[in-house]
Amino acid sequence: MAVISVIGTGYVGLVTGTCLSDMGNQVTCIDIVEEKIEKLNNGILPIYEPGLEEMVERNVAAGRLHFTTSYAEGLKNAEFIFIAVNTPPSSVAGGADMRFVESAARMIAEELDHYAIIINKSTVPVGSGDIVSRIVRNNLKRPDVTFSVVSNPEFLREGDAIKDFQNPDRVVLGSSERDAAEKVARLYLPLRATIMITDIYTAEMIKYASNAFLATKISFINEIAQICERLGADVKEVANGMGYDRRIGRDFLDAGLGYGGSCFPKDVRALAHMADEAGLHPQMLHAVMEINHDQRRLVVNKLTDILGSLRGCVIGILGLAFKPNTDDMREAPSLDIIRWVTAQGATVRAYDPVARETAVEAMKLHSISLDNVTFCETAYDVAEGSDALVLVTHWNEFKSLNMQRIRESMRRPILIDGRNMYEPSEMTNCGFIYRGMGRGSGP
Ligand code: NAD
Repeated sequence: MAVISVIGTGYVGLVTGTCLSDMGNQVTCIDIVEEKIEKLNNGILPIYEPGLEEMVERNVAAGRLHFTTSYAEGLKNAEFIFIAVNTPPSSVAGGADMRFVESAARMIAEELDHYAIIINKSTVPVGSGDIVSRIVRNNLKRPDVTFSVVSNPEFLREGDAIKDFQNPDRVVLGSSERDAAEKVARLYLPLRATIMITDIYTAEMIKYASNAFLATKISFINEIAQICERLGADVKEVANGMGYDRRIGRDFLDAGLGYGGSCFPKDVRALAHMADEAGLHPQMLHAVMEINHDQRRLVVNKLTDILGSLRGCVIGILGLAFKPNTDDMREAPSLDIIRWVTAQGATVRAYDPVARETAVEAMKLHSISLDNVTFCETAYDVAEGSDALVLVTHWNEFKSLNMQRIRESMRRPILIDGRNMYEPSEMTNCGFIYRGMGRGSGP
């Protein structure tokens, strides 16, 4: 049993802290947002993640999991201090904003009164481990205190976060102090995962390279989708055919609206920025980003191709979150689509099983007027009187909709399937004017 503190109670911090406590460790999670800690202390989760609520409840009841806003309280006796704060895109030139990591490092230094291993789980530019070391060293309240810094990038996916934490494909640890990395490795031993220990720069780079590769797969298949659509091939079948090849693999070959969320967009941008700063010309990363942006535009093009002007049209949006099983709206394609269609004079009816509140916040943050958006209680409400329906997030519940009923309640039977969730022939037989992403219909 180890004594652990986790700084940041977002998607990564809360899942990490809860899973580590579930493994029998004593964990205290620290966040600077009082409201979040107050909620957590009252058994309310500030985020939606399947299975997490029960797990938090169980470990709090067992006395292994605590929440506080106080670094003094949270760092008491901690042998391991995980930093899992946000590293959003910086306002300048696409780099990562390190303010939160830096302030966490300063606050650790101000309270640390014993040796501890500081483990960075946040996604940070290569070289950030040195910055954290320097900040902690320069701000230590007790200059005699020693510490080590280890990079431990996180690879979990929102929506599958617990499963991913408990069954990782690999655990990556990077440090200039092998002993410290090995101590962290021992924390993960119960997971029986492949553990890779390397230097700190390499560990930090593994995270960016992994995300950039996955984003590249998505942009690659989206480019293929555009070619398929023009030439009459069906990209879904093409992806299946490619995916049988083990050198390629089927994962991340789903054509659609492109990647979104809190990681891929900002991490690809940050990696390109690092390369630019280093005097390199990361052409492929720039192409990946450009294709991703264009992919969202395609939806609006498809709508105007069929409807002509969108002025006065009612566009139904199925799904708002950037992907299913999460309420995360960061860089969600729905935001761009809603902004673009309302700018052309349409009004929107939208429904998401869990992301309504976060969608309202995100729209305010991005100055998207809420006046033209009606939030509905079900997918059927969205369809009522709509001129077109756009499937944006492939929530499972949208698979089993009664499409006949949907079509009958619409003003015009137009279905833009942004995630290729439905079978084109079934939808056409059902009376829809159906458009998928890259689904040509043969010669
Ligand atoms: P998040 O925004 O959901 O949570 C971050 C939390 O840190 C917030 O609750 C915030 O209040 C808190 N915080 C900020 N500064 C603090 C400070 N000084 N002290 C204490 N708490 C502080 O972020 P997230 O999605 O959990 O991501 C965290 C990091 O992990 C990011 O670097 C991200 O790139 C990376 N990551 C995220 C995912 C993911 O799927 N979300 C996956 C892998 C890696």
